[in-house]
Amino acid sequence: MVSGAYARVLEPRSREELQAVMATCHEQRIPICLRGSGRSYGDANHSTQGIVIDLRGVNRILGFDAERGQVEVEGGVSFEQLWKYLLPLGHWPSVVPGTMAPTMAGAAAMNVHGKNNFKVGATGDQILELDLVLPSGEVRTTSRQQDPELFRAVIGSMGFLGCISRLVIQTKPVYSGQVRVAAKSAPNLRTMMEDMAAHVGDADYLVGWVDGFAKGPALGRGLTHIAYHLKPGEDPNAQATLQVSHQELPASILGFPKSEVWRPLRLLNHDRGMRLLNSVKHFMGKREAKRKPYLQSHAGFNFLLDYVPNWKFAYGRQTGRGLIQYQPFVPKERAAEVFERILELCQERGFVAYLGVLKRHRPDDYLLTHALDGWSLALDFKVDPKRRGQLWDLCDAMTEVVLEAGGRFYFAKDLVLGAGAFQRFLPADDLAKFRALKRTLDPHGVLQSDLYRRIFEPLDHPGPLPLTDF
Ligand SMILES: Cc1cc2nc3c(=O)[nH]c(=O)nc-3n(C[C@H](O)[C@H](O)[C@H](O)COP(=O)(O)OP(=O)(O)OC[C@H]3O[C@@H](n4cnc5c(N)ncnc54)[C@H](O)[C@@H]3O)c2cc1C
Repeated sequence: MVSGAYARVLEPRSREELQAVMATCHEQRIPICLRGSGRSYGDANHSTQGIVIDLRGVNRILGFDAERGQVEVEGGVSFEQLWKYLLPLGHWPSVVPGTMAPTMAGAAAMNVHGKNNFKVGATGDQILELDLVLPSGEVRTTSRQQDPELFRAVIGSMGFLGCISRLVIQTKPVYSGQVRVAAKSAPNLRTMMEDMAAHVGDADYLVGWVDGFAKGPALGRGLTHIAYHLKPGEDPNAQATLQVSHQELPASILGFPKSEVWRPLRLLNHDRGMRLLNSVKHFMGKREAKRKPYLQSHAGFNFLLDYVPNWKFAYGRQTGRGLIQYQPFVPKERAAEVFERILELCQERGFVAYLGVLKRHRPDDYLLTHALDGWSLALDFKVDPKRRGQLWDLCDAMTEVVLEAGGRFYFAKDLVLGAGAFQRFLPADDLAKFRALKRTLDPHGVLQSDLYRRIFEPLDHPGPLPLTDF
C-alpha cells in the first residue's frame, strides 16, 4: 500500500446519526475525513488525524421518477447498486467511472467522469439537487437554481465543505442492455488522437489504451474503443439484455477464478513482463480492429477493471509497495505534444507506466474543477520503495510540462503534487471564493483529509485539535 492511515472509523446508518456525529466533532474540533468506498487512488479518503466517517451505510435508493428518468438516492449508494436498480427499468447512470464500487457522493465530491465526458460532462452535470450536511449538523439543499454558488463549490469539493447525504440524479433511458463497440488500432499517439477526435461528434463513448513501452515512430501506439447506445427496437432481445443477469462479468479468465487472476498477473508485474503484456495487447488489438463492431454489455464495457478483483494486489501488498496513478488534463491544442513528451520522459527515466488510458474531456464551471476542453492521459506507475524518490522526481518533471501547457490535475488520482499546486492552475478568484466558503461553512476547519493537509495551505481559522485530544 503506497498511501494509507490508521484511524477511528464511524459508520452512521442514517442522516440523523451522521448529523449528530458531525455536530459533535464540530463542537469539539475533531478532524473529520469523509469516506465513500475508498476508491480514490491517493490520500483523499484517509486521514492521520481525527476520525473517518465511512458513509457506505447511508445508502437507500429513495425513489425513481421513470417519466423524467430522475433517481433520488442517499450519498452512500454505489454505482453498482444504482445500475442494478435502474437497468431493468430501462435506464442507466448517465456517467459511470471505470469501476462500479464508488458511491454517488464520493463521485460528486470528486466530479467523476466516464468514457463519455466529451459528450455529457461529468457527474456534477447529472446532479439536479443535493443535500449537504454541514459540520454544525445543519442541512443545506442546493441545485443550479437554489443557491447556485454553493452548488458550484460542492461539486468537486473533495469533502472539504460538508457531507453530501442525498442526491437527485438525471439518468439515461436505454433500449438494450448492450452497447455496440468498434475497435481501431493506432500505430502511434497522434493517430489515436485523430481517430478519437473523428468520433467526438457521433460516438457515445470513447476511450484509448496506450502502450507506454512503444518508442520512436510507435510512441503512444494503442487501441481506441468507440461505443454507441442501441436505438429503440434495435435489440430484438432487449427484455433479456436489460436484466442484471445479462451483465454479469465472467467468473473466470483464461481458466483462473477471477478473484485469483491478480496472482499470475503479479508474476508479470515488472518491466519485462509488462512490456510483453502491452505488446500482446497491441497485437491482439490489431486483430480486434479487423472484426466487425460487436455487442458488449454495459457493465462489461464500462467496468473493465472490475473483471479482475483486487488487480492492484499484483503491484505488491506490502507497506510502501503498490501503484500510483498520474492523470494530467491538457488543453486540446497542446495535448499531443505534452503527452508525447511525458511518454518520452518516462522512458528516459526508466519508469514506464504499465497502463495508459486516454480520454477526451469538456470543460465545466465548478470552483475546483480539473475539467477543460482537452484530453487526459492516466498513467499507472508501479511504486518500489527503493525508487520512490526518483518516481516522485519524474512526476515533478511531468507536472512542469503539464502546467506550462495550461494543464490541470485531478485529485481523485493524485498522490504526488505538493502544497500550492492548486494555485498554479486554478483561477485565484475561484480559489479565494472556495476558501471563503470553507471558512463560513466549516469555521473550525474540521473537514480535512491527508490530501487536504498536503495540498491546501493553512487557512486562517483556528486549527483543529489532533486525535490525542479526542
Ligand atoms: C479501478 C478504478 C477506476 C476508476 N475509474 C475512474 C474513471 O473512469 N473516472 C473517474 O473520474 N474516476 C475514476 N476512478 C476514481 C473514483 O471514481 C473516484 O476516486 C471516486 O471519487 C471514488 O468514490 P468513493 O465513493 O470511493 O470515494 P472515496 O474515494 O472514499 O472519497 C473520494 C472523495 O470524496 C469525499 N467524500 C466521500 N463521501 C463523501 C460525502 N458523502 N460527502 C462529501 N464528500 C465525500 C472524500 O472525502 C474524498 O475526498 C477510478 C478508481 C478506480 C479504483
